[in-house]
Amino acid sequence: MTTERADLLVVGAGPAGLAAAVTAALGGLRVTLLDAGPGLGGQYWRHPAPGAARELRSSTRRYHHDLRTYAALTDSVARLAERGALAYRPNHQVWTAAVSDGTSGGFVAHAVDRGDARAEPRARRYSGSRLLVATGAYDRQLPFEGWDLPGVFSAGGLQALLKGNGARAGSRVVIGGTGPFLLPVAVGLAQAGAEVAAVCEASSGAGWLRQARALSGVPGKLVEGAEYAAELARYRIPLRPRTAIIAARGDRRVEEVTTARLSAQGAVVPGSQRTLVADTVGVGWGFAPQLDLAVTLGCELTGSADGNEVVVVDAGQRTSVPGVSAAGEVCGVGGAVLALREGQLAAEAVLADSGREPVTGAADLERVRRLVAAHRAFATAMHTAHPLPPRWGEQVGDDATVCRCEEVTAGAVRAAVDEGAGDARQVKQLTRAGMGWCQGRMCAAGVECLVRSTRPDAPSAGAPLRMPASERLVATPVPLRALVAESDA
Ligand SMILES: Cc1cc2nc3c(=O)[nH]c(=O)nc-3n(C[C@H](O)[C@H](O)[C@H](O)COP(=O)(O)OP(=O)(O)OC[C@H]3O[C@@H](n4cnc5c(N)ncnc54)[C@H](O)[C@@H]3O)c2cc1C
Repeated sequence: MTTERADLLVVGAGPAGLAAAVTAALGGLRVTLLDAGPGLGGQYWRHPAPGAARELRSSTRRYHHDLRTYAALTDSVARLAERGALAYRPNHQVWTAAVSDGTSGGFVAHAVDRGDARAEPRARRYSGSRLLVATGAYDRQLPFEGWDLPGVFSAGGLQALLKGNGARAGSRVVIGGTGPFLLPVAVGLAQAGAEVAAVCEASSGAGWLRQARALSGVPGKLVEGAEYAAELARYRIPLRPRTAIIAARGDRRVEEVTTARLSAQGAVVPGSQRTLVADTVGVGWGFAPQLDLAVTLGCELTGSADGNEVVVVDAGQRTSVPGVSAAGEVCGVGGAVLALREGQLAAEAVLADSGREPVTGAADLERVRRLVAAHRAFATAMHTAHPLPPRWGEQVGDDATVCRCEEVTAGAVRAAVDEGAGDARQVKQLTRAGMGWCQGRMCAAGVECLVRSTRPDAPSAGAPLRMPASERLVATPVPLRALVAESDA
């Protein structure tokens, strides 16, 4: 197996990785851009797969924002690729990354190439003097009765179906969870012709009142908020604050949804339950950064206001590991504009460290730094105003499945806590919750909430919620054939 070499390896072609790859290549570095998906743009600019019908591509445009920036970046990738300055490798899932063991130093990314649907996935190896991790985030979930019924989706999943396939998952939808991301999902579904019966927002909204300073730094977000409010009114979508979806029921798929009011601590208010008819449910409790590669590489992490661990970076997005940078949601969930600008800053720092001239002028660079600071302050305000309900675990019945891969119930998690487990890691050791195919991506937050509500004296219970990132040497399932090819080499 040959190894393709570059000055900079970028993993992730979302807003952060795209901006970084283009900036670095414009600055004269040879860049390889790897992404697990079939197209450029990540979650924010998810599009139908290349080759999809033109009608589908144009009908999904309405779900997007700032397509001008997307078009400029994708055009740049095409031009830079033609010049041989940038190699874009779609359908390449990096399953691990490491410091290169050769004499030249640098890093190696081990990927599975799934580009040819008719052939077996192939092992590929890429090396770079420097590496940028821009692997984004995934939806954060909390368990509730019936959350594993067909018809229950993550909010991001509903959005991905709209943007990537032009498909609405159902006709009558209830959206729940917390955070501003629920709004574009509800509006997108309504634009696609679905009836959105309610958006159940667990927080009261009052938390924003204490965040006036953070809001004043990002006036664009206020405009966006007002636009969504107008769209909700236009489609007659009720927004119910301090309300949550607590059950989905149906024979073989969702037929009805129970919602309830929440107390300030996130406990269900007795007698406040309501039943809504629905065939589809979309739930999102914010996002969790996709940290596998950063953890494997040894990057230092810190806690963020939403309870996630995130990669520690300096003003140039350099991590604690020399030569490794990080940008976008892996450094903290904060939206596409932040991701884009962090990617730009990361590339400028890599150019400076490589002795190259900057691509961005000094005044513009200063403006970008200010923008990043303002969006980070906004992100902290958003996390503070939309916390996970601390007492969520109390209303999850013993029969509810918490870890869906290993089929571990809430009752089994509680029994493990009674036996002495004090955090999600110990629960995993006793029950296998988090050891299955998704490696805890779906259940980690739920297990942590159950531990806290079952054992208020647990070491983690009084502290702010912090979900520890797991070390996964193999970040994603990888066929043995690909590993064999690697070992032959
Ligand atoms: C399902 C989902 C839908 C979302 N939809 C929206 C939306 O509609 N509007 C909005 O404002 N925000 C949305 N978000 C939030 C959004 O993630 C960010 O605001 C923005 O896209 C972050 O940019 P990023 O570059 O950090 O990460 P992303 O855009 O997530 O890009 C990360 C990229 O890394 C790739 N990747 C990850 N791991 C690997 C690996 N091991 N090997 C190779 N490639 C890898 C992914 O395929 C992805 O393309 C969504 C998030 C999720 C999880």
